[in-house]
Amino acid sequence: MIAENIERIRERIHAAAGRSGRDPNDITLMAVSKTFPASAVREAYDAGLRVFGENRVQEFAGKVVEVQDLKDVRFHLIGHLQSNKATKAVELFNAVDSVASLRLASKMNAAAEEFGETLDVLLEVNIGSEAAKAGLAADLADAEWENLLQELPKLTNLRVRGLMCIPPHTEDPAGARPYFRKMRALRDQIIAMKLPTIQMTMLSMGMSHDFEVAIEEGSTCVRLGTAIFGERPKA
Ligand SMILES: *Cc1c(COP(=O)(O)O)cnc(C)c1O
Repeated sequence: MIAENIERIRERIHAAAGRSGRDPNDITLMAVSKTFPASAVREAYDAGLRVFGENRVQEFAGKVVEVQDLKDVRFHLIGHLQSNKATKAVELFNAVDSVASLRLASKMNAAAEEFGETLDVLLEVNIGSEAAKAGLAADLADAEWENLLQELPKLTNLRVRGLMCIPPHTEDPAGARPYFRKMRALRDQIIAMKLPTIQMTMLSMGMSHDFEVAIEEGSTCVRLGTAIFGERPKA
């Protein structure tokens, strides 16, 4: 089942890349395995996936022992991170894609330094300015952005790779298109600042219901849960 789903998703990624004149190899398919057991991670791994997303530090702490033997695999934290779990997150994950404050970035940098590693991070943007969602403002003039862009180059144990977002939900996937466009524009604005050490190559955007639109708008990483593993049990 999982392998078949992945096969079909790959075809859709290829088609969406083709429509927009992009190389499908520039798009990472991340399997979002939150709420699913380690056996599901293994199945997706056997079908060729190497990048996984988990939402919660605590949940992954319980799963990690069962997937430790998998080679060349990367686990990303994609959910909101509380600062008291920052050290644990740096210890468990290969990357944190949901950094949205300087405070959190500083904590993670300190933890990474302690572990003698460099951690890949993405900055999360609340692109639809939704009250219920975490993330940086969709406007670089915002004070938190100014702090971050000034201080991040000094946090040398973090490697900033790009941006992540979850746009507002719309029934029609095309409704997400303006938000994806806005993300790309934001990324290009940051690139134009030519900040030392900050890379802005990654745009993590697109989930099960809107990933094709995201690819058409420049996504370099689509994060799929339901489309790969099926419906999650309702909490
Ligand atoms: C759950 C989740 C996903 C995957 O959502 P699906 O709609 O199941 O594909 C992607 N990104 C984040 C941040 C998530 O929390």
